[in-house]
Amino acid sequence: MSYSKDFTVAICGGGLCGLACAVALSRAGISVTVFEASSFSQEAGAGVGLGPNAVRALKGLGIFDAILARSDQPEPIPRLFGFVSAKDPHDFIFSVSCCEDPVALAIYRPAFLDAVVELLDPSIIQFRKRCTSIDVSENGRHVMHFADSTTHETDLIIGADGVRSVARRFVIGELAKDPLIYPNTAAYRGLVPTEDLRRAGVQTELTGRPLCFVGLDKHMICFPIKGATVINIVVFLSDYDKPPQSELPYPWVESVSQKELKEHCKDWGHDPKIILDHLKNPSKWSIHALDPLQNYVRDKVVLVGDASHAMLPHLGAGAGQGFEDVFVLIQLLTHPRTEKSNLSDVLARYNDVRPPRANDVLRASARAGRLYDSFRSPEQDKTRLQTELSGIWEDVWSYDLHKDVTTSFETLHRLHVF
Ligand SMILES: Cc1cc2nc3c(=O)[nH]c(=O)nc-3n(C[C@H](O)[C@H](O)[C@H](O)COP(=O)(O)OP(=O)(O)OC[C@H]3O[C@@H](n4cnc5c(N)ncnc54)[C@H](O)[C@@H]3O)c2cc1C
Repeated sequence: MSYSKDFTVAICGGGLCGLACAVALSRAGISVTVFEASSFSQEAGAGVGLGPNAVRALKGLGIFDAILARSDQPEPIPRLFGFVSAKDPHDFIFSVSCCEDPVALAIYRPAFLDAVVELLDPSIIQFRKRCTSIDVSENGRHVMHFADSTTHETDLIIGADGVRSVARRFVIGELAKDPLIYPNTAAYRGLVPTEDLRRAGVQTELTGRPLCFVGLDKHMICFPIKGATVINIVVFLSDYDKPPQSELPYPWVESVSQKELKEHCKDWGHDPKIILDHLKNPSKWSIHALDPLQNYVRDKVVLVGDASHAMLPHLGAGAGQGFEDVFVLIQLLTHPRTEKSNLSDVLARYNDVRPPRANDVLRASARAGRLYDSFRSPEQDKTRLQTELSGIWEDVWSYDLHKDVTTSFETLHRLHVF
């Protein structure tokens, strides 16, 4: 088989970002193989909200229509959050309004993965291939080592292996301190039928826009799904007095009792209490994040997605940053002048533009969580929260990604690489 480039690519991790990369590279005629640790049958069924910047990046990658077709939305629509006091009488605090075209899409992770896998030649993906380390061979190529004792040699590795990335270990160096932290935030998740809540007397309107009930050191997100017949509930509890800890023992997801969760939220008012009464079998997710990395590239190993910038999910922006990474990387790798001999220069441009942008969003996500969790009462905090919340999505959603690509190409021309 003949390929459009004189270099080969291996992708470590076939999650949201790894597969998006694989589709774009194979469509451009580049030799690519994906190594995925799991089999997809183990996929957790969580939902992912994609904001306007994520939608633009996926459209730019040419995979948006396939994903939309697998979602339960006919088209992307504005899904702007409202903020409500968790205490009685649930005063309305703030309504997000931002961007010219704030379209968004909510999709189940497995549906996203199914949509993207369908666009790939099955021989490109190898499942149950857990990469354990990466090193450099004598001829200067990269070698991936797998748990089944096999190896794979390639010119370029894209590390898309998520928050506990092995590729990141190569990029930061074996001796560097692991940037993975537990910032003392846990998310309790579950689904509740809308009709049950209505019958039980919940007054707050939950079927229109997504809502966030704000309180002190905790908040609850209510997100209508499946044509608003079901409400996806996520309660975030944070301990801001403790310093961030190093990684907790794995796995980070466990079943918890409803009683435990209700005990944490007993100072909340009428509607959140009823919602928690109906949240059967909640699961508790210990949310991990990264201290910002300065570099996403070393030699010819490049990080995308959570491997490089796993963040707290308070702006619903983690996957979106991953798709921005993928969009920029694909523009660079598929440029007609990119070849094996100039890959280092090309990857250096990715490293110029992506860490500053994604780390800004990472920090903004942590700040957003602190804001939602700082609400004592309407009298004390309503005006402050209205001021501080306004505008925090603008920077995430309205970012001009094409400018970064143009600047990168200009630099490569100026340096006579292109
Ligand atoms: C509670 C919660 C809510 C969220 N909500 C949103 C939201 O609304 N919007 C949003 O944009 N983001 C959200 N996120 C973040 C989003 O889920 C992540 O940013 C996104 O999944 C990252 O995609 P990824 O491809 O980088 O990593 P992943 O999706 O984690 O994929 C990594 C893949 O690599 C594989 N892998 C791991 N290690 C290896 C290895 N050693 N060898 C081979 N394969 C390996 C894994 O099996 C996996 O398939 C949320 C996160 C959480 C925790």
